[in-house]
Amino acid sequence: MAAAIWLEWRESNRMHVKAINERSRLTIGRKPGSDIVLADPLIPREQAFIYFDGGNFLVRNLSKNNPILFNQRWTIAHDQIVALQPGDTLTFGYLKINITASQSPSSHRRSQVIFKVRCPACHRILDHELNDCPWCKASLAGAEALIYHAEGKQKVDSEQEDIVDDSASI
Ligand SMILES: [Zn+2]
Repeated sequence: MAAAIWLEWRESNRMHVKAINERSRLTIGRKPGSDIVLADPLIPREQAFIYFDGGNFLVRNLSKNNPILFNQRWTIAHDQIVALQPGDTLTFGYLKINITASQSPSSHRRSQVIFKVRCPACHRILDHELNDCPWCKASLAGAEALIYHAEGKQKVDSEQEDIVDDSASI
């Protein structure tokens, strides 16, 4: 299955959809010129960077002052990276972005959260129980935590509304 996810959010009473594929690298923030410009004054000028690396879609928080709420439960701090799966949500200010799949994921598996870390030296994604990177031997103390949501349930939104497809601006 080709790697692609969609970002869906409601702003100004419209549903917005933006497709992300393996080649996408996009910024989210209040700053004009961001790939996704969000008008909420609570959102910093540069909030998030979403990209594909190591087989996963990743989000990095660019803001020193504004954490991102992940799945309405975890906080993504400045420079922390989290892997995104369909079913996840990212909340910036009052605005929630739903991560959805372009193809239906199998729906009968239980949700499972897996924690990994990224080696600060070689950036490989590793088991969080390791003390040292097996590749480059760097210490993993203080390495960035990655949260993998191994299974996600697809968001079903039966509301019929105007859909604004922002994908053309990638
Ligand atoms: Zn390493």
